[in-house]
Amino acid sequence: MRIIFAAAEVAPYAKVGGLADVAGSLPQALAGLGHEVTVYLPAHRIIDAAKFAIPEKAETRSIPYGASTARAGYPAILRDGVRTIFVRSARIGRDKVYGYPDDAKRYALFCRAVLADLVDRPPDVVHAHDWHAALLVPMVDRAKQLRGSGTAFTIHNLAYQGRTSASVLRLAGLPRSRLPVEARDECNPMARAIASADIVSTVSERYAEEILTPEFGEGLEGLLAQRRADLWGITNGIDTKVFDPAHDPQIAASYDADDQTGKDVCKAALQKETGLQVDALAPLFGVIGRLVEQKGVDLLTAVAPKVLAAGGQLVVLGTGDPAYEAKWRGLAGKQKGRLALTLGFDAALAQRIYAGADLFLMPSRFEPCGLGQLISLRYGTIPVVRAVGGLADTVRDLDTDPRRGNGFSFATYDPAAFADAVERATRRFHLGGHQWTQLRARAMREDHSWTSSAMRYVDLYRAASKARRAA
Ligand code: ADP
Repeated sequence: MRIIFAAAEVAPYAKVGGLADVAGSLPQALAGLGHEVTVYLPAHRIIDAAKFAIPEKAETRSIPYGASTARAGYPAILRDGVRTIFVRSARIGRDKVYGYPDDAKRYALFCRAVLADLVDRPPDVVHAHDWHAALLVPMVDRAKQLRGSGTAFTIHNLAYQGRTSASVLRLAGLPRSRLPVEARDECNPMARAIASADIVSTVSERYAEEILTPEFGEGLEGLLAQRRADLWGITNGIDTKVFDPAHDPQIAASYDADDQTGKDVCKAALQKETGLQVDALAPLFGVIGRLVEQKGVDLLTAVAPKVLAAGGQLVVLGTGDPAYEAKWRGLAGKQKGRLALTLGFDAALAQRIYAGADLFLMPSRFEPCGLGQLISLRYGTIPVVRAVGGLADTVRDLDTDPRRGNGFSFATYDPAAFADAVERATRRFHLGGHQWTQLRARAMREDHSWTSSAMRYVDLYRAASKARRAA
């Protein structure tokens, strides 16, 4: 099949969160299965063109944009069997991927630019990701030349819908007709993609069920219920070549499930690097993620003092909401040598934390899939998570399921419940010995590669093509 991906962020070129991991590794897995995949992303200014040998010269097109036109270039590279096209336009490319008042317009233009590049050679399937690429779905639906192309839309996070003024529809070349979930003069790109895609999917089975409820549906539960027959849940994989403790150039020593000695070296190196006391016997907890309400920062900052008082250490890497940054800064100021805080985005440090920590904390309010826990498992770092969304699908509590457990989990979003899970995990760590080594080995041996999920996406694409033909 010829498959098109459109996404705002794609690793390793531009990454904010898990969307980049998926858009940067699922295409390779699909190419490995023999499919032809082209990935479109905006040519953000943060992308290192020299490092990735992105050509300066490229084909350009004039893109209709409202009553006027905009020019876009299409420099392309081939990497690991996947063609990646960086849509270059002065109106789209900025220093950051998101966070500008005109994001909705920028991404509407991105969608139009992708569309313009597809019409000459219609693909079998167009797969759009999250609200930034969402308007591409109704655009493909309306394009006569693309009548044979199926559409798939993946929700990576329903909390971000891209709601904006309906005036963006004119720029996008879409009719003004309103969806029932849209307010007057509003355009909800994510809702429009959900309404018009041949197949809608999300990134874990549990989240696919949760979003049908008012608690997790973010106001779109009714619309999603109408699409229930076409709603799929496919758990994300991770790039097991990048995240591999046996061959990771970023970490102090290599290790695997059979020989874990290198993990102790990684722990000591991480403690040293981040200014923590070098202490093999102190349980070292890692936290990596966007500092936003979704990630349970309230629970983390509430329970952190207890963890430290009990002799634990915390290494925190994140960026986001200034209020949460201040909260962590306040705690770190009082806990030198026990709490190491890095406010920023640092992929290499993240890998050293995944490798060097003993345990990984992820008490999310909601979690579509979550990659942090999967990467932790791969590095033998035992996750402590709230049993919600993809975290519930991938982490099994050791005390509930001693034979298959790979971590610790709790149900209620509440500091006491989280503290209890952390205490249980800490006790196991201190028991140590063969049981702890076995637990780590079990975690490391789990298969979280894309292999099986990529095959499910192929089924999804077939279903999308079939639905399109039937229509
Ligand atoms: P989300 O997509 O909601 O941000 P996920 O758990 O799905 O959360 O994916 C987050 C990804 O981004 C993981 O690969 C994680 O390691 C990475 N990440 C998040 N914050 C940072 C940071 N500050 N520095 C480096 N990597 C980060």
